[in-house]
Amino acid sequence: INTVKSPDISREKSSALYETAKGYFPGGVNSPVRAFKSVFGSPLFIEKGDGCFVWDADGNKFIDFCCSWGPLILGHNNPVVKEHVLKAIDNGMSFGAPTALENDLASLILSNNKKIEKIRFVSSGTEAVMSAIRLARGYTKRDKILKFDGCYHGHVDSLLVKAGSGLVTFGETSSAGVPQSFAEETVVIPLNDKDAVRAAFEQFKDQIAAIIIEGIPANNGLLIQDKDFVHFLRDITKENGSLLIFDEVITGFRLGFEGAAAYYDVNPDIITYGKIIGGGMPVGAYGASAEIMGNISPEGSVYQAGTLSGNPVAMSAGIGQLSQLLKPGFYEELLSKTAGFVSDIQEFADQRGYAFKIFTIGSLFWFAFTDKDIKTAAAIDASSMQYFKVFHRELLNRGIYIGPSGYEVGFVSAAHSQAELESAKKAIFDSLDIVFL
Ligand code: PLP
Repeated sequence: INTVKSPDISREKSSALYETAKGYFPGGVNSPVRAFKSVFGSPLFIEKGDGCFVWDADGNKFIDFCCSWGPLILGHNNPVVKEHVLKAIDNGMSFGAPTALENDLASLILSNNKKIEKIRFVSSGTEAVMSAIRLARGYTKRDKILKFDGCYHGHVDSLLVKAGSGLVTFGETSSAGVPQSFAEETVVIPLNDKDAVRAAFEQFKDQIAAIIIEGIPANNGLLIQDKDFVHFLRDITKENGSLLIFDEVITGFRLGFEGAAAYYDVNPDIITYGKIIGGGMPVGAYGASAEIMGNISPEGSVYQAGTLSGNPVAMSAGIGQLSQLLKPGFYEELLSKTAGFVSDIQEFADQRGYAFKIFTIGSLFWFAFTDKDIKTAAAIDASSMQYFKVFHRELLNRGIYIGPSGYEVGFVSAAHSQAELESAKKAIFDSLDIVFL
């Protein structure tokens, strides 16, 4: 493919910062996805964000479609969220004792999201998922978890497991340091495949504590599942005395206030949240019926705790953010704006006959260099990522920031105005022309 480059933006300061960071952090980063492993150059160090823009250390300005990997549904430095954070900080940062702010955020969520009755706040999505898994095991008194190939649920030991070679397989660990015995408690199967789910329940009869699935799998491409498949998961878990866990760390409060559960019109047993719920501060949460949540300590025997859980500054940020999402028309506007943006790009690519497809739902999108409909991890052609690599560089050079991996989704926020989406489209068209030249 064409590798003729336009002149690169200046990256001198970012490169120097990265050299320094490599002396401090493994690989120079504090989370691997930030490293530019599969794209050109080294990570851009971001200095500030405002609305839909970010500025890097070299003063380059970008329209940002990464949005901190999802939390910033209102864009950077939203004035109301910021005001909430500042107000909370005035009173101190952490007490390790309950505050009214925890009640306020819980009330805001539970009175507007009928998919759960009780909630527990934690500090990250990973923690939420890890706790949900423990809760499912404690509640069902079973050990095995069924997960799908291509779903990411944070760096929870028992979920850092990838598919083996059969239809229904015990997982193989996907990270060093995860004991094989943990992986043996995780069954990994392909997405959107009812037969594989049935086979798993036959093979591990009365052993499966829960099925966990991302609300919409959005960590390995955007693998939108058939509604029928999701309802099938609800039914088969019920029939077998297993729980259904929806990991809505990305989709929660993004597809709508009740997330993918409402989109699919399904009632999962446990739902995990993160990202948006904290307005950019470190927050996660999990929720379920009062009956299931009654198993969590100190009410029940499933232990789960956290020094900074329900942190007042983070709770306040969450209140500032979620209260704005409840304004009438908020989601309708965000969704229609995203739909218009995506369909214009798709139309451009189609007119030129480019093998380029945008998968989209809500305000999520995934740029894929393919002409196929993709619903499973196995259907993604790894060699197509070479196109993404060029595309990514050309986008950066034209002031568009997206995650540095072709497997990652992009996010449109309420702060992306029509004018900015128009200029982003132009940059995307030009970048596509260069990729396919
Ligand atoms: N679950 C899903 C669906 C995610 O997308 C992520 C993170 O991207 C996590 C869990 C882990 O969340 P965190 O990175 O906050 O630990």
